This record gives sequence, C-alpha cells and structure tokens, in this order.
Amino acid sequence: MEPDCIFCRIVAGEIPATKVYEDDLCLAFRDLHPVAPTHVLLIPKGHVSSQAHALETHEALLGHLVFIAAKVAGEEGLTNGFRTVINTGDEGGQTVHHLHLHVLGGRQMHWPPG
Ligand code: C5P
Repeated sequence: MEPDCIFCRIVAGEIPATKVYEDDLCLAFRDLHPVAPTHVLLIPKGHVSSQAHALETHEALLGHLVFIAAKVAGEEGLTNGFRTVINTGDEGGQTVHHLHLHVLGGRQMHWPPG
C-alpha cells in the first residue's frame, strides 16, 4: 500500500467507496464523477502506478482485470456493449496514479475518444 494513494486508501477501507465487486486481487467501485450511466473503476488491490509501470510479474493480474471488467459489465446489465478504458500518463489523461480500468456503459459510445 502507498499511504498517499487515494485508491490504496479505498482498498484499505480508509476512504468510502460504493463497491460493486471484490476478490483477492481486485476491487471495483462506482466512479465519483460518472461520465456514463454506468461508470465503474476496477483496480488491482496492490499498488501499480500505471499500465506503463506494470511488470512481467503482473501479467496474470492484468489478464484477470480484463476478464473481471467483462464480468462486472455483465453484472451491471450492459448487454448492449460497454467500453473499457485505461488512461496512462499525462497525455493519456491519467489523474490517479494507481492502475485502473474504467468500465463504461449505458449509452452509445463514440470514436475517436476525446
Ligand atoms: O483515468 P483517470 O486517472 O483520469 O481516472 C480517475 C478517476 O477516478 C476519475 O474518473 C475520477 O472521477 C475517479 N475518482 C473517484 N473517486 C475518487 C477519486 C477519483 O471515483 N476518490
């Protein structure tokens, strides 16, 4: 755990969050500022700063997160599709430096993203 990391503090229970899924490796909770009718953040419980900081030892964890993102989307009833986003670094639009997948759905998504 990184004491100054807001998502580590959510994992630790120090900051409240509306959890929608949890297992030994990851936690999913509702984004505080949703940009779609469904907007869930899925994070590894262990601190990884970003996708770019993931190590070879994290490979199975990354696969698990992608698999669970689809499971969460299903549990959220997103039968018409959903979007999974990982923002990485400044130009990628990352603002919280703990790896997270956005699971977005409930409206039509567009391409290219902003
Ligand atoms: O990908 P990015 O780093 O920009 O996303 C961070 C996300 O974390 C934002 O969508 C923001 O609304 C969310 N957030 C949250 N709860 C917090 C802090 C940030 O849901 N306490």
